[in-house]
Amino acid sequence: MAQSEGPAIALVTGANRGIGLAIARALKADGFHVIVTYRTGKAPEGFTGVVMDVTSTTSVEAAFSEIEEKFGIPEVIVSNAGITRDTLVMRMSDEDFTDVVEANLTGAFRVARRATRGLLKLKRGRLIFVGSVVGALGSAGQVNYSASKSGLVGMARSLARELGSRSITANVVAPGFVETDMTAELDEKRRIEIANAVPLGRFCSPEEIADVVAFLASKKASYITGAVIPIDGGLGMGN
Ligand code: NDP
Repeated sequence: MAQSEGPAIALVTGANRGIGLAIARALKADGFHVIVTYRTGKAPEGFTGVVMDVTSTTSVEAAFSEIEEKFGIPEVIVSNAGITRDTLVMRMSDEDFTDVVEANLTGAFRVARRATRGLLKLKRGRLIFVGSVVGALGSAGQVNYSASKSGLVGMARSLARELGSRSITANVVAPGFVETDMTAELDEKRRIEIANAVPLGRFCSPEEIADVVAFLASKKASYITGAVIPIDGGLGMGN
């Protein structure tokens, strides 16, 4: 397993678009060698790309082996890949529920478990999970998604306790509503309702999420672990 003398390696899952791509750009600007994982299409211009489907242990294993062999051990791991399958609970099928948990929670577990192998060797590292404000607030029509996002909090806090003595931190960022393909599905009426419910009165940009993730990845955040950091314009405050 190679560990180059070059810049530290950061891995971002689901980073071919949306919040993940903004995070990849911010980490690159901070000097990391950023590895972008993508499931469909191709890696964005200017990034090293590796194929990874977080719903497959084999795919996660193959991606990490490839990265370690070619570049070295990733020391910042951002679990960003996620899906929604919104519908009211009465209409939510078993698959609607389990597919979302499988991608958002079990997927993040697979990535963290595999990443830990390298981080224990390095005796340092940052596990950063992209959660959501709805993990604490709940959300009508998102029983599956909110369950997956609250699950990330328990998982990150357990990782923080398990790995803290090796200088490995585990934190969650909890975005509110962000302008990406995921929220582009909302109709105009719902978008206005949501914006009106946010104290800052607007949606978030992907770059505003990326800046906080870059902070958590930086030396400045070395004593933060087990935290859930809201980036929600005040929508979830008090929870
Ligand atoms: P997008 O739908 O724009 O992008 C989702 C990304 O996840 C894509 O790169 C997608 O890959 C990838 N992905 C989905 N399933 C898998 C999988 N099984 N394996 C690997 N990659 C996968 O979403 P956002 O950028 O909006 O969201 C990113 C994260 O932020 C998600 O975890 C989401 O829950 C969270 N979030 C988003 C909010 C928002 O308002 N947008 C608010 C709060 C949290 P592909 O292109 O191949 O589909």
